[in-house]
Amino acid sequence: MRIAATIPELRTALSSLGPVAFVPTMGNLHQGHLELMRGARRAARTVVASIFVNRLQFSPSEDFDRYPRTFERDRQMLQAEGVELLFAPSEQVLYPRPQVYRVRPGPLGDELEGRFRPGFFEGVCTVVLKLFNCVQPAVAVFGKKDYQQLLIVRGMVEALDLPIRIVPGETVRDGDGLALSSRNAYLAPGERAEAPRLYRVLREVAAGRPAAQARLELERSGWQPDYVEVRRRDDLAPPQAGDSELIVLGAARLGGTRLIDNVEF
Ligand code: AMP
Repeated sequence: MRIAATIPELRTALSSLGPVAFVPTMGNLHQGHLELMRGARRAARTVVASIFVNRLQFSPSEDFDRYPRTFERDRQMLQAEGVELLFAPSEQVLYPRPQVYRVRPGPLGDELEGRFRPGFFEGVCTVVLKLFNCVQPAVAVFGKKDYQQLLIVRGMVEALDLPIRIVPGETVRDGDGLALSSRNAYLAPGERAEAPRLYRVLREVAAGRPAAQARLELERSGWQPDYVEVRRRDDLAPPQAGDSELIVLGAARLGGTRLIDNVEF
């Protein structure tokens, strides 16, 4: 696996590779990320990954400084997965000047996650557009674990006519149902045992339980829920009578750790 730390190095490496499928990450890789690499491999002959902890998508009160950075382990995992090229820029490379030019998503960027993390999707769209311009992939793979992010990136690609096909990757879970996430590392043992409740109550909502009851159960079990909401799967609008392709999305804090998950139904 080649590693490019700068944009010229990346361009040189890409020049001999042909069309690539791209998987952007913030590192601290787990099986969920590796599943995206496999999805990328099915979509193109060559896979390019990136690792970059994007300051723009963290608010000042969030965990940018303590976000787990495990580059050597990540490098070995990507190498073992057969990834051809890793783009791992420093902040100096990606943001040599304050990033005053930004991509603002539409109103969907202010809902659900956006309501509780103002500026989050602007930070995501801005870095994803920059990474797309650096890597110029034919295909990019995003996890359904971050379902709203997947839809917003797809919307950006359409709205800005980027010649990139966005491919979704299924959510990978631990045996007890907890969606794999870099932030699971923050959970104390007692919290880790409690954490699968989020997926459990979302599945119950998918089976007909009112979202308000699921939220109440989370509160009574020591969580601080931000939202538990049923939406339409294709555009995340509130469901209308007759809509059949739905999704329930939830976000809640357990101790100091904020977890999100969703279930399609
Ligand atoms: P992150 O490194 O958390 O920014 O995530 C990078 C990519 O991995 C995003 O497209 C996420 O949606 C995806 N991802 C994160 N967790 C999972 C998971 N448990 N299963 C599948 N994809 C995931």
